Amino acid sequence: MRWIGVLSALWIGLSNSASSQTVAWAGSDIPPVDSMCYQFQRLYTQIREESVLPDSARKFFSDIMFGLRGKFRTAEPFRLDSTRRDSILRTAYFSFPLRNYSPDAIGGSHGEGYRARGFDLFDYNVRGSHPAQDIFISDRNQDCIDDNTDRPADVLAMTSGVVLAIETAWTPGQEYRGGNWIWIYDPILDGLWYYAHNNAIVVRPGDWVQSGQKISEVGRTGFNAYATRSPTHLHIMYLQLQADGLPQPQNPYAWLLTARNFN
Ligand SMILES: [Zn+2]
Repeated sequence: MRWIGVLSALWIGLSNSASSQTVAWAGSDIPPVDSMCYQFQRLYTQIREESVLPDSARKFFSDIMFGLRGKFRTAEPFRLDSTRRDSILRTAYFSFPLRNYSPDAIGGSHGEGYRARGFDLFDYNVRGSHPAQDIFISDRNQDCIDDNTDRPADVLAMTSGVVLAIETAWTPGQEYRGGNWIWIYDPILDGLWYYAHNNAIVVRPGDWVQSGQKISEVGRTGFNAYATRSPTHLHIMYLQLQADGLPQPQNPYAWLLTARNFN
């Protein structure tokens, strides 16, 4: 399966210990990745449609995350300790998620657009938080064509990982806020990336993406992003998984500042 070789290479690059190269991925009770992607997509759709109770959604969610950890071996002793995480931060692990853009394009002057208070992934009714950064492109006439290049602006994977779920069917008039979104699980950080308001999406659930790989083009999909008052932007969120498999938003601002830029 395609992601296994990629992940092995990643581990060899990141780990000081030769023993971590001899990992057996076969686990008879771990479901296949495609099935976990399907479960995640179904759960996220149910949360959005409020057809699952928040407590049940939490249980399903953490089950899926434990499955992913099992599959990608991020359970102890593979989970990053803070030292290894610091060393990753120094090794150009992160890619700036918009081609031809740099941190100047992040909303606000010091990333203060990030407001995590009150966020609950499992309760679609909770509003008002914004545990994310918005990164704006030059698009005065709001046609999703970059004014500087006359082409769509490419969204790049901030880190490597497996695409868990995508939405491609958003249409104007739908009240869903994320529009066409992408969820990616990064087994090294043991966290989830969420990219929202995309136009075209060029990856599929189950795909392994490399840091810096094109995953989509910036769009205006989503209830608020579609409105004229909203300048064209990418909404990017990072959720750090906790020991119990539940997500905690984490501000990706510092990572955006240190990310490699692609032109
Ligand atoms: Zn946003």
